[in-house]
Amino acid sequence: GGDKINELDIQGVGMTSQRTRDRLIDRLQDKGIVNSDVLRVMRLVPRHLFVDEAMASRSYEDASFPIGHGQTISQPFIVARMTELIMQSESLENVLEVGTGSGYQAAVLGGLVKNLHTVEVVTELHRNARDLLYKLGYRNIRTHLGDGSWGWEEAAPYDAIMVTAAPDEIPSALIQQLKIGGRMIIPVGAQNSEQKLQVVTRNNETNYSVENHESVIFVPLVGG
Ligand code: SAM
Repeated sequence: GGDKINELDIQGVGMTSQRTRDRLIDRLQDKGIVNSDVLRVMRLVPRHLFVDEAMASRSYEDASFPIGHGQTISQPFIVARMTELIMQSESLENVLEVGTGSGYQAAVLGGLVKNLHTVEVVTELHRNARDLLYKLGYRNIRTHLGDGSWGWEEAAPYDAIMVTAAPDEIPSALIQQLKIGGRMIIPVGAQNSEQKLQVVTRNNETNYSVENHESVIFVPLVGG
């Protein structure tokens, strides 16, 4: 009833305090995040609006949370790490995210790159993220509904691609949609086990190289 809503409002106000967010940023730095642009943007994005209201009071913990449909909003450290890995090429003009989910990672990227396209396969998650990102004023983010294991051909090629769900193998369509010299950050490995975060660089028309980074646990990339 009404009391519950007021309680959430009060918690919400607490969560918007800059000190709460600053503590998360301190924690990310303690864990080794060094890119000052990434830290600056993550200090600004209101993560409490991207989680379920019932979770809002915990939204600045360095943890992942359920967002419905068996999906999750990624842990801030992983968001920061993947963003740091993608931001190594300067001035990214056209970027693709696969797996919009809550839209939080998209908001972080939206603060750093010129144009972001993000694809989500679950209709309701797509709609929620689209509406929230619009309400928050992001005009350089285009949200799309579809199976992102085929990328998003209409806006290709991309300077960078970030995949936030894990396929067993790197989908070749995504490599094809990278510019020469472009990079993709993607967790790769079997479901229900640890995956490896990989950085894939497209060297030329036919050749790409793969660097392995830390182990992560993501929900599976469906379709393909
Ligand atoms: N980036 C999200 C965020 O910031 O909240 C977290 C992503 S969540 C771990 C993975 C998302 O990928 C889910 O929303 C899931 O529905 C979506 N997904 C899974 N397979 C997909 C596919 N083939 N195409 C597009 N989205 C997919």
